[in-house]
Amino acid sequence: MKKIFLEDEPDLEIFLRQNSNSRRITLRISALDGKITITGPNYLDFAEFKKFAESKKSWLKSKRKSFEPPIFIAAGVEIPIAGTHTKILFSDVREPKKVGGILFVSKEKPVSNQVKKYLKEIGRIHLTYICKEFAERLGSKVHKITLRDTRSRWGSCSNDAKLMFSWRLIMAPEDVLAYVAAHEVAHLKHMNHSKDFWETVEYIFGSYKKERAWLKQNGPSLHRYKFES
Ligand SMILES: [Zn+2]
Repeated sequence: MKKIFLEDEPDLEIFLRQNSNSRRITLRISALDGKITITGPNYLDFAEFKKFAESKKSWLKSKRKSFEPPIFIAAGVEIPIAGTHTKILFSDVREPKKVGGILFVSKEKPVSNQVKKYLKEIGRIHLTYICKEFAERLGSKVHKITLRDTRSRWGSCSNDAKLMFSWRLIMAPEDVLAYVAAHEVAHLKHMNHSKDFWETVEYIFGSYKKERAWLKQNGPSLHRYKFES
């Protein structure tokens, strides 16, 4: 089978399948193994397929991230905390303690439980602080913040001013966490994604394009980290 490779992305291998009864170009990623296939009519030439695949490059890259091998939390493993590489190491501590780029954990308890608890705790502190600040800019109030391990969304806002966030956001760069907080806080004013809503996000957070793009592109890789003990 012919293959297409994208500019600057040698790892993205795309298999080309042409057949006479296909009428348009489609691009698919197998949910099973992440294999990428582009399908389309016989009469189109290679350059057409390549152009189409290039136009879907960022989508492909983010989809592909879900197929990265899992990383099991253990001593010696590196995880991002607020976007910074942090190495987990055993030490004589009772509770996890972060010093620079090292997170010290106790030998006495399961490592993944300790790290997960720690991430949730600091995630809660950061989110509570920043949501309060953003809500104040809007003259609103947040009633409750809940942290979950959600797969499909990074946050949500209910109409009784309760906000929900994925605690994995604490692994993302600080600005990305702040953007998600601003997004949910802006829903206190607008329960939709209208133009007014996005203007509110911009009003409390500033330009959010970079953070939104980061999340789209790199968000799935935050799910690589497996905390099951
Ligand atoms: Zn939203």
